[in-house]
Amino acid sequence: MKITRIEPINLANRTLLVKVYTDEGIVGIGECSPMNLPVEIAHLEHSIGPLVLGMDPFNVEALVEKMQVSAYKIAGRTQAMCGAGVEIACWDIMGKALGQPICRLLGGPYRTEVPVYASSMRRDISPEDEARRMYELREKHGFRGGKVRVAVMNGFDQDVYPGRSLAVVRAVREAMGDDFQLMADANSGYSPEMAIVMGRKFEQLGVWHFEEPCLSDDLDGTARVAAALDMAVAGGENDWDIRFFKEMFRKHAVDIVQPDVIKAYGFSHVKKIAAMAGAFNINLVPHTSQHNVGTMANLHFVTATPNCRGLQEFSIEPSPLRDRLFEPTMDVVNGHVRVPDGPGLGITLNEDLIREMRVG
Ligand SMILES: [Mg+2]
Repeated sequence: MKITRIEPINLANRTLLVKVYTDEGIVGIGECSPMNLPVEIAHLEHSIGPLVLGMDPFNVEALVEKMQVSAYKIAGRTQAMCGAGVEIACWDIMGKALGQPICRLLGGPYRTEVPVYASSMRRDISPEDEARRMYELREKHGFRGGKVRVAVMNGFDQDVYPGRSLAVVRAVREAMGDDFQLMADANSGYSPEMAIVMGRKFEQLGVWHFEEPCLSDDLDGTARVAAALDMAVAGGENDWDIRFFKEMFRKHAVDIVQPDVIKAYGFSHVKKIAAMAGAFNINLVPHTSQHNVGTMANLHFVTATPNCRGLQEFSIEPSPLRDRLFEPTMDVVNGHVRVPDGPGLGITLNEDLIREMRVG
């Protein structure tokens, strides 16, 4: 089988899907993390596309190596995100060709359903409203944990307004009671010193994990925070380079690592990060912030990977694509999501919606 065409699909609402076509008529679908769509589309069309045309989609190891090595002069996050979309689509093709779900091809299912936490993406929400929706979502879907946003993204110790970060953690804790696994994500918002000060306060409110307390590439600073605090420090959502993860683990910068399959060259590469994390006794909670094809890819990964233990991320934000982009939908029942057992990703895209929302 040979790859004959790569088609980026830019959807309004900041979503970048990619279709990979083959000479046997099987088409795979993937998603690239949508960080800068025009730049990523250019990478897909001018860098990755020419590299993978003619390659066998089963040969993902050679494919990922080629995408990394051949483009080393411009390699980095963008290449890893675009490569991820293509790699995921290749697994979708393999699954469709073999009549098997991706989680089985990855060595699973290790677990049949995935326990998920309610992940808020918002800082423009009052502590009271955040607490209210967490409470309502637990009533409706059975979430046993949730994550709130603290600090300001890359904010150098600012808060949205003075006191918001502590107020939102306190409000959600009070609304949900002690039996709720509460997480706080700073998105690189604090200096190490302030992260330790704030982290101690979050610990007193029973926060389970403190995510990206410091600038995400400041491994020494993050390690200082992890050493000073009792609670788990989480990070790694922006990273893709296996050597960077090695340094992250060697420095004990994180207790929980969060690679994202749509940012880090896809399943085969993140599997390697997972194996290395296992050697350091580090748990995986892969990052997934949207509610798209990539979320489904993440579900297959988590279903197949032993050290993705505990509650896994699941966005609670509404979007025009949510529950409409593909069938079957991803439904949280009693705090758990099941991966579909159809071939590949197990999804059928809503092509009418894609036509309606396509840009360019
Ligand atoms: Mg995060």
